[in-house]
Amino acid sequence: MTAGTWTTSCCGQKYTGSNTAHCTSCHHGFTGPSAFDRHMTLDGCKNPAKSGLVLDRRGLWGWPRSSRMTGFLKRKRQAPA
Ligand SMILES: [Zn+2]
Ligand SMILES: [Zn+2]
Repeated sequence: MTAGTWTTSCCGQKYTGSNTAHCTSCHHGFTGPSAFDRHMTLDGCKNPAKSGLVLDRRGLWGWPRSSRMTGFLKRKRQAPA
């Protein structure tokens, strides 16, 4: 009965925290709206792991620690087109 716990209407998964997000399409959980946006593309849902997100202990996809995120962006920029 903790405040801020909610259940998804699509698949009944439970989340804690008002910032957490759940995708009704691919049914992944996210630590916040920005992480959720990250996996969305014009073509639909993208694998969160391939979007640079990492799974946390709660089973939610979120942003990696800033150092790793910087590394990800650097790698993306250096990758040949
Ligand atoms: Zn999705
Ligand atoms: Zn769902």
